[in-house]
Amino acid sequence: MENYNMERKSPFSEVKMSERGAYYIETFGCQMNVRDSETAAGLLETLGFSSASEKENADVILFNTCCVRDHAEKRVFGNIGAMKELKDAKPNLILGVFGCMMQQPEVAQKLYKRFPFVDIVFGTNLLSRLPAFVESAEHGSRTLAIEENNIQIEDDLPSIRTGMINAFVNINYGCDNFCTYCIVPYVRGRERSRDPKAIVEEVKKLVAEGYSEITLLGQNVNSYGKDLSDATFAKLLQLVSGVEGLKRIRFMTSHPKDLSDEMIEAMATLPNVCHHVHLPMQSGSNEILSRMNRKYTRERYLEIVRKLRNAMDDVEITTDIIVGFPGETEEDFSQTLDLVDQVGFASAFTFKYSPRMGTRAATMEDQVSEATKRERLHRLNELQEKKSRENNEKYVDRVGIVHVEDCDMRGDPVCYGKCSNFKMVYFAGSPDLIGQYIPVRMEKVRKNSLYGTQEDQPL
Ligand code: SF4
Repeated sequence: MENYNMERKSPFSEVKMSERGAYYIETFGCQMNVRDSETAAGLLETLGFSSASEKENADVILFNTCCVRDHAEKRVFGNIGAMKELKDAKPNLILGVFGCMMQQPEVAQKLYKRFPFVDIVFGTNLLSRLPAFVESAEHGSRTLAIEENNIQIEDDLPSIRTGMINAFVNINYGCDNFCTYCIVPYVRGRERSRDPKAIVEEVKKLVAEGYSEITLLGQNVNSYGKDLSDATFAKLLQLVSGVEGLKRIRFMTSHPKDLSDEMIEAMATLPNVCHHVHLPMQSGSNEILSRMNRKYTRERYLEIVRKLRNAMDDVEITTDIIVGFPGETEEDFSQTLDLVDQVGFASAFTFKYSPRMGTRAATMEDQVSEATKRERLHRLNELQEKKSRENNEKYVDRVGIVHVEDCDMRGDPVCYGKCSNFKMVYFAGSPDLIGQYIPVRMEKVRKNSLYGTQEDQPL
């Protein structure tokens, strides 16, 4: 969960700030949701609202929900229920709930009925209509709005960026892959790619605002352009790479089945594309990959890893892994451990499988017991911790260029940021370094990061 609100200057200087009051947005889920919350904030600021740092001080509170994670519904309903007291104390408070979870009609209706003090409930695809929903709530009307999934892309919506040094840029929406455990295609709709010209224009604007690092976002960036003529993700990387002043381009997420040789070449040759790929592996067993409908094999996954490493000796790969998918035997799981061992991921997000209503896997037989899932997750995490440490150790006594994200001022100031290949590095520094690219010699390995010293000589 991200707390969206932070002190930032509104880019909408013509609007008299706080004319209408303050807003607070609580965001659950992935970067796509964080990006949607940035747009929601931009829309509210065009109406004259400004950001509040606490819910208690807000006149509009929005929850941007996610339905991918465990017990998401229970958590969201709990959070909304807790708002009743605030609403009773402040009857003009506008409460809204949106995001992927509200794109599921039965859940949206249930929430709307159960919490009559919630003013606005709308699906993720109706974000551009937020100003109208808020105005209608100001006039005392409640809104429940869910529309079909494949709504047209709207490029010109305002937004308030939360990233201090890195800005998210959507390149495609939705997903066509229907992995059997995943709800995303049902709530975010079919895949739609943004026009490359609109993406480049947005990146130019971000550079003009002072950003030198961006992250291109999509559920599957590698299939970007399939619905356009003559557009691929590799070609998009080339276009974006040419934006003057842009120093780092990141992207996520990459589906292995769509990762092309052309894209590897673009990564290896374009100077500002970061050498990091988040490449969800999910399982090391071909039988389980097939049941997941992932459309690649462990052999193909290993081939991609080899190609990436042959093309870039400093590339790092991170991943997502699910244990205890329906039908996963001990042999299947040992194949996962084996693949983790062979690849040597820099880091991994590991999960126990949990069924999502409305997905194919939820109705599969051979669900794995909770105790087995827990035990497998433990073994997987132990192995991955060892691999992460080994991976970090190879950087000791090497110099990396760290894009400084922030400084921890408790005690002696410690700055931190990432190298191009996503390695997190800490070093003694001062807040004036935030936003700069600093050479750091890495000296010590910590659990998930490295600690080093700033090099005197700029590289
Ligand atoms: S690629 Fe699979 S896991 Fe990823 S969003 Fe699409 S359906 Fe979900």
